[in-house]
Amino acid sequence: MIKDLELLVQLQTIDLRIHELIQSQSDLPKSLSELERSIAAAGRAVDNVNNQMDSNAAEKKSFEERVVDAKAALDKSQERLNSIKTNREYDAVHAEIENFKNTIAGADAKMRNLLAESDKVTQSLEAKKEELEKIKADCEPKISDLKAKIASIDSSVAALRKEREGITVGIPKSLLRTYDHILSRRKNAKVLSFVSHDNSTCSSCFKVLETQLVNEIRRGTKLLTCQNCGAIFVWGETAVEKDTAAPAA
Ligand SMILES: [Zn+2]
Repeated sequence: MIKDLELLVQLQTIDLRIHELIQSQSDLPKSLSELERSIAAAGRAVDNVNNQMDSNAAEKKSFEERVVDAKAALDKSQERLNSIKTNREYDAVHAEIENFKNTIAGADAKMRNLLAESDKVTQSLEAKKEELEKIKADCEPKISDLKAKIASIDSSVAALRKEREGITVGIPKSLLRTYDHILSRRKNAKVLSFVSHDNSTCSSCFKVLETQLVNEIRRGTKLLTCQNCGAIFVWGETAVEKDTAAPAA
């Protein structure tokens, strides 16, 4: 029986790895899209500032054109002053001139504001670009790492399943059926409960075990399951001694 239980321990190790891989198969794409979203958001922030710069430049250009037009019209009005005959005409042309001057002054003021604003926007663009680069430098290696992991999960699971088959061949069919039955009902893939001198509780449900039961588990001569949670008991020290090659106490 002890040999069979040792095989179950190997099986459990593989099943936990398969469980972990399948779990990560659903978690990794989420982490991946979170990383991709942070890069996209930082990219959009840069785009927004670029758009603002473009719209400022377009606005500045339109004010410049307005000033050119107003100046040309102002020149014409001033020329007309020389050939004026009536007072009424004189007042009208003067009003026109005043109007054009106001337009020019207004547009100049707006352009000065835009210039000051564009300094701020340029600074903000630099900051946003820097932030984007920082986020990229942080996220891109993680993204390629995750992509590689996602790509390798299927082949890793397949390899583990093959390894599992190799182990199941040596396990008596009824024992394997019991194990697989418990495995199919466990969300965390933990079928075995490891018990030792230091830990006389079920490692799966933490029920305190009677000394007599602990002794029986230690002997390992028959299949014992937890009455509380159904896990198969395995004497933990067997596995520990095997793993670490430590001398028996
Ligand atoms: Zn239990």
